[in-house]
Amino acid sequence: MTAPARIAPPRTPRAPRSSDDLIQAERPVLAHNYHPLPVVIARAEGVWVEDVEGRRYLDMLAGYSALNFGHRHPALIEAAHRQLDQLTLTSRAFHHDRLAEFAASLAGLTGLDMVLPMNTGAEAVESGIKVARKWAYDVKGVPADRATIVVAAGNFHGRTTTIVSFSDDDTARTGFGPFTPGFRVVPYNDLPALEAAIDDTTAAVLIEPIQGEAGVLIPDDGYLTGVRDLTRRTGCLFIADEIQSGLGRTGRTLAVDHESVVPDVLLLGKALGGGIVPVSAVVARRDIMSVLGPGQHGSTFGGNPLAAAVGSAVVDLLKTGEFQAHAADLGELLHSGLAALTGKGVTGFRTRGLWAGIDIDPALGTGRAISERLLKEGVLVKDTHGSTIRLAPPLTITREELTGALEALERALS
Ligand SMILES: *Cc1c(COP(=O)(O)O)cnc(C)c1O
Repeated sequence: MTAPARIAPPRTPRAPRSSDDLIQAERPVLAHNYHPLPVVIARAEGVWVEDVEGRRYLDMLAGYSALNFGHRHPALIEAAHRQLDQLTLTSRAFHHDRLAEFAASLAGLTGLDMVLPMNTGAEAVESGIKVARKWAYDVKGVPADRATIVVAAGNFHGRTTTIVSFSDDDTARTGFGPFTPGFRVVPYNDLPALEAAIDDTTAAVLIEPIQGEAGVLIPDDGYLTGVRDLTRRTGCLFIADEIQSGLGRTGRTLAVDHESVVPDVLLLGKALGGGIVPVSAVVARRDIMSVLGPGQHGSTFGGNPLAAAVGSAVVDLLKTGEFQAHAADLGELLHSGLAALTGKGVTGFRTRGLWAGIDIDPALGTGRAISERLLKEGVLVKDTHGSTIRLAPPLTITREELTGALEALERALS
């Protein structure tokens, strides 16, 4: 694991301020809705970031998969620069020359027909919920205001008031009611429970094909196929939230590809913005997306020229298949590396492609404590629940760098 000789120096030298100073300076002026690790990043390239003191770290979180192609991937930066010099924003009041290409290429990549461009993941989820409800009333014939959506326990779909309405994470919910009705929560990876929750009012089943925030929980083989068959048989939509699992992370373009399942509605975000701008989308079959007419939904920034240019460049990278193949290949190294640590501080782990949830022996400390030890080893990770940490490196990581990260984990656990 060797850091590159240098990362581009800052263009305009700023008054040097230490990490500690900058962390202290945030406290009085920044909402405390995060508890970041004590590192202040100033520059980055590929899988490496550099803090204000010039220390290098291997980024094994990759912006929760928003940085699947690494920091500042040259093709993405070039696409963004080119677009910055032409046109950045029009609003959807007018057409612009980048949107047709973006929508067509994203639809092509996913095997679906139509794209509703938004910005953040939570907006894509909200938009998917609106499309499903409208479809339930207009097409399925559910009586007005009676539509239900079935979701899974342990879900993470974002932070809006409607989305936290169907979360079962107390920290995310408490204090934010009243909540939006119309959701039913069933255990994840449990087809009989799902079937029991579906009735004539059900617009959709909304699930993550792999639950990332819950600790990279991978359902049993056949679950996604079962959800597909069940939703088809009962006449409701299958909405797959692939905001974190999609776009190469698992070794395939989409996590549902592992079971060759095509959902009715796909939610994408995070890596779609290439680590440059927020870009999200609802992608759906034409007969479903067609329920939306002018004025019924929108976004000032959704599908803006810069977002469309970057999003198109992201799709171009994925079309080569290289990133998926590399994630699948190095995923085997990740899996075997973690298997070797099992019993040596690791009590359990789950991987798919370059994505891992690792349960640490609580006797060795919390996930947070292990993350802090890894920070000292020059590796950035994030804990999720209690003593679980998650690894999701950029898909551009080399074998040598991944081996280095696994060795650092071994040291952090000993
Ligand atoms: C991150 C995430 C979201 C929310 O995305 P934001 O861009 O943070 O709003 C929704 N669903 C899943 C599965 C996610 O991982």
